Amino acid sequence: MSDRPHRVAVVGAGPAGFYAAAALLDDEAHEVRVDLIERLLAPYGLVRYGVAPDHPKIKNVTRVYERVALDERVRFLGNVTLGEDVTAEALHRYYDAIIYAVGAQSDRMLGIPGEELQGVLSSTTLVAWYNGHPTYADLSIDLGHRGVAVVGIGNVAIDVARILARSSSTLATTDIADHALSRLRQSDVTDIHVLARRGPVHAKCTPGELKELGSLDGVTVVVDPRDLALDPTDEAELEANRNAAKNLEILRGFAEASAGAGADGRRVHLHFFASPVEIVGEAGTMTGLRVQRNELRVSDDGSWDLVASGEERELDVTMLVRAIGYRSDPVPGVPFDATRLLIRNDDGRVIDDSGQVVPREYVVGWAKRGPRGLIGTNKVDAAETVVHVRDDLGRLGPSPDVDPDPDGVIRHLEERGVRVIRFAQWQLLDRLEVARGEKEGRPRVKFVRRDEMLDALDDPGDAETS
Ligand code: NAP
Repeated sequence: MSDRPHRVAVVGAGPAGFYAAAALLDDEAHEVRVDLIERLLAPYGLVRYGVAPDHPKIKNVTRVYERVALDERVRFLGNVTLGEDVTAEALHRYYDAIIYAVGAQSDRMLGIPGEELQGVLSSTTLVAWYNGHPTYADLSIDLGHRGVAVVGIGNVAIDVARILARSSSTLATTDIADHALSRLRQSDVTDIHVLARRGPVHAKCTPGELKELGSLDGVTVVVDPRDLALDPTDEAELEANRNAAKNLEILRGFAEASAGAGADGRRVHLHFFASPVEIVGEAGTMTGLRVQRNELRVSDDGSWDLVASGEERELDVTMLVRAIGYRSDPVPGVPFDATRLLIRNDDGRVIDDSGQVVPREYVVGWAKRGPRGLIGTNKVDAAETVVHVRDDLGRLGPSPDVDPDPDGVIRHLEERGVRVIRFAQWQLLDRLEVARGEKEGRPRVKFVRRDEMLDALDDPGDAETS
């Protein structure tokens, strides 16, 4: 028994989950079998439901993940929700180790008056909606607004600003969800105001993404040169951070170009030292936004504070998108750090509230380190956790509690009425989506609703012609 392959469940089939699976397969000392358990029918997590539709090259990474999924030592078990269809406790009856790769699905609040008003939404919602995430398929997002505020200046804020600014004819060549495309075709948006609470050298977005804003047809990026004045602490940041220097150069270019620009087309205004302080509303609906100008105080140790300068103004916007970072949700039965908003862990080993290691449980990706880093960051991060998995399994050996039958978990799920979706079934959905897209000159037309996907699996011929 002790020589049997180690069986590992990876919960979540996004980038972190796939990199964890790939790292597990690399083990030459001991054979391993990996089940990728995913709550959706489609794999790839944020690559499918987070990466902007007009960034198709980034999505090519799914080819790497597909190779992992097709490895005979790996099984994809889709349509299985941890905590609903199977508990963490039950998983221990089928696996020697569990790796949580559940990501960060929720958003953070600004904590200012008016956030409950109609017209205010999170980037998590907007991005998932335009990418055809099944949970957000039935949202009715109104784009009948001329002015929209996007709070934050990370890459998600830039993605949101770009999708709102881009011409719908360009978006019509992408895999954007059909429901979002039809709303964007009728969009009234003319002015998108991106609000960065700190200065230009502290913008979190990467230079490539920032620069792209300036290359959109019919779009002017407006920057106030006053926002680009530097103070001595900025010089230190510019020296330490190459992205900051590049961003500054791009912003100076925007400021120069926008100075003489006309009023045609759409505008993306990048405001620095700007924090929303109140979302103004009437009868439950957003009608404007009060924004304060900040002064940034940086201490010698690099910590910083924002102080109100006393200057305030009202922006003419009736929609606001918070793009201030994602957060993980607690997973039932798994220790959660409510301050850092992630699965409590010590370098990838799950720990309980008293700091004790929870045997045979691990975490990778955003649920481990918080919502930071690019897709590739997860590769290194997953490999680091998998070193612990391997060490611990080497020491503990296979769990004596594990059902010797590898199909035991599938029976467990099916007995509970779960229709487990296997990778070959996803591949069929994938082919159908691509075939639907070919007819429209698009990379794919996504299935959005879960039922629609299940129907397509039951009757693929019908789905192809629809
Ligand atoms: P992020 O990079 O952490 O940016 C969050 C932004 O929100 C920052 O500008 C932050 O300002 C601001 N913010 C936070 N709390 C705020 C508050 N209370 N009020 C006002 N502003 C606030 O997060 P993200 O944009 O969600 O991106 C998450 C990760 O995904 C990042 O690593 C990003 O690079 C990656 N990503 C990459 C791509 C791409 O490669 N194309 C696309 C999307 C996302 P401070 O800096 O002042 O805290």
